[in-house]
Amino acid sequence: MKNIFIIALTFFQLSMAQNYPKKLFNLYDAVKDTSFTTIRFKQSHLVERINIYENKLKGIMKLEKVGYSGEGREINLIHIGNGKTKVFLWSQMHGDEPTATMALMDILSYFASNQNQKEVKAILQKTTLLILPMINPDGAERFQRRSVHGIDINRDALALQTSEANILKNVRDKYNPKFGFNLHDQDPWNTAGQNGDVSTIALLTPAYNFEKSTNAVRKRAKHVAAEIVDILNSFIKGKIARYNDDFEPRAFGDNIQKWGTSTVLIESGGYPNDPNKMFIRKLNFVAILTSINSIATEKYTETQISKYESLPENKNLLYDIIIKNITQTFMNSTIKSVKVDIGINITQTENSEKVVVQKATIENKGDLRTYKTFRVIDAKGKKVDNSKLKLNSEINMEEFLKQFN
Ligand SMILES: [Zn+2]
Repeated sequence: MKNIFIIALTFFQLSMAQNYPKKLFNLYDAVKDTSFTTIRFKQSHLVERINIYENKLKGIMKLEKVGYSGEGREINLIHIGNGKTKVFLWSQMHGDEPTATMALMDILSYFASNQNQKEVKAILQKTTLLILPMINPDGAERFQRRSVHGIDINRDALALQTSEANILKNVRDKYNPKFGFNLHDQDPWNTAGQNGDVSTIALLTPAYNFEKSTNAVRKRAKHVAAEIVDILNSFIKGKIARYNDDFEPRAFGDNIQKWGTSTVLIESGGYPNDPNKMFIRKLNFVAILTSINSIATEKYTETQISKYESLPENKNLLYDIIIKNITQTFMNSTIKSVKVDIGINITQTENSEKVVVQKATIENKGDLRTYKTFRVIDAKGKKVDNSKLKLNSEINMEEFLKQFN
């Protein structure tokens, strides 16, 4: 009888642990930071929010001024919790990759109203979170990848020419955190494997040498990455990929791993009908919080690293729209018509009036059977002149699609 009780209790505990991601997923709308509604926000807005949370989380959260961006924007490191295990999270090193920055604010918002929650208490007692959201505020101001000097901060870990790279390195060296979360966005046009679905989240435990060896530091990172796979499988099974792990001697993730912090890269990719990445932001919120909780409880050590290592590779094999079987004709009648598929991608850009507009471009033409797409149109029997199917040309989607009705 006693044994049955213990078994029942263990099952109960297991199911409780498994329930945390689902619980977070379900309460997300009630706890998220509702002030972020688009990917194009600037540092001024972020600072406003951080100040609000500093006030709400008195005694738990404090700010430390760690420097200035190239253009003189003040950068603060957020400290949360009092635990022994330090977890360093940095986002938006690339100014146009804001998804995780929003998720980090969602996490602060959640902490503000859930301080007495069991899982939050474990995080606050066992870990100290060191959060650097939006390390590249000048890039975010312009919604561009690079720093104001035109330098890719993620290729500046050794040369340290940008103030932002110096800040990142100084914070790492000062606190020597056990864990690191390197938070980025990638193009939404990747797949999880050669023949797979869209890559919504790609994970990487960066290599620290060309041989891609695994030491204790990287192994610990692989356990955390495996834990993230476990968490996300409940929501986006088949849409999780492993990012290319070739060693890049100049990149931060690779060096931070090398310097002794177990580092996981999270790349927010694509998801159908999610141009502002709000669903992927929610996944970041769930994955980051749950994995930090499992660092606090040390549950991550039990997760098999094969769950991470066996992920399909991230591949650049997707277009927003594929129009297949177009008969491409030529004005010059001596050239025979040919059958082609075209791949179209849609990006958001700001026009001269600073209004966000969609831009559609023909990215590829020919036999595209090996590519995936969010939307396929069969143009069998439709003839279109070559001059209207120019590669790399911008098209007016509405007008363009009329040809295939
Ligand atoms: Zn990036």
